[in-house]
Amino acid sequence: APDQDGGVFSRGELARYGNIELSPSSGVINYGQGLFEGLKAYRAPTNDCSRKGSYMLFRPEENALRMQHGAERMCMPSPSVEQFVHAVKQTVLANRRWVPPQGKGALYIRPLLIGSGPILGLAPAPEYTFLIYAAPVGTYFKEGLSPINLLVEDEIHRAMPGGTGGVKTITNYAPVLKPQMDAKSKGFSDVLYLDAVHRRYIEEASSCNLFIVKGGVVATPATVGTILPGITRKSIIELARDRGYQVEERLVSIDDLIDADEVFCTGTAVVVAPVSTVTHQGQRYEFRTGQDTLSQALYTTLTSIQMGLAEDKKGWTVAI
Ligand code: PMP
Repeated sequence: APDQDGGVFSRGELARYGNIELSPSSGVINYGQGLFEGLKAYRAPTNDCSRKGSYMLFRPEENALRMQHGAERMCMPSPSVEQFVHAVKQTVLANRRWVPPQGKGALYIRPLLIGSGPILGLAPAPEYTFLIYAAPVGTYFKEGLSPINLLVEDEIHRAMPGGTGGVKTITNYAPVLKPQMDAKSKGFSDVLYLDAVHRRYIEEASSCNLFIVKGGVVATPATVGTILPGITRKSIIELARDRGYQVEERLVSIDDLIDADEVFCTGTAVVVAPVSTVTHQGQRYEFRTGQDTLSQALYTTLTSIQMGLAEDKKGWTVAI
């Protein structure tokens, strides 16, 4: 990131993708002092002259703020919102030939903030590196929305109260690999985690937030430090309210979920994914999917805004 006001991050430069050098005693390798973010750049519609740029980002300043919040928890300095967004834009421009055509996917952008300086005793690292890499990704679903099947995990918890579940630290992710692989080997798409205290309130899946719909009411687990406050989640709450739904952020029990008409996940990767089945303690519960579901409508609205196909009344997109 570029230097600003003598800021901590001084050497903004673009480099070819390749290995980076790290001290064996760096804070990130030894104590997991690291955070990441994930966002997508879409190619803007070429026939739309009202857009100044060719590429579209979705609420990148929200990713910057989430990284800042996480950095505070992990004893790290963080780039300013301006530095973060500037560096993301530079990364997109430098990789413009890798941004897939409209409707064929996006350029996935991965900002990382790591304790790169050496530290032997348990303490924050003396130096930090903010870096970004990017890779093209296809659309999550090849044709339209394909519903996913979730397995409720009873034994392993993703986060505990007072822990780091609410920030995007790298150390949240290795522990979910095993339950995720186990669920996949049994034919499920992902794991649905329960709270670690009562073991009956739903939290989120490995990399997406969860919503349930019952009549005109939508509910999603409140962000009380154990789930990641997703940027897609925040946007979907607003879009569902715009459609006249009552949206509640609260404790959502597994019984509330079982009783729901519709269940869906949200995240940068999936955008909105309808959930067709949830399996809990050997019982399989089915939910509505298909054309006249709320998840389908929200998917269409959100992707149209993200790709610049619909007017962005909220000012959510940033054209480059
Ligand atoms: N929960 C977890 C654990 C995640 O890793 C992600 C992906 N960042 C999300 C939820 C969804 O967040 P977002 O909508 O910001 O991608």
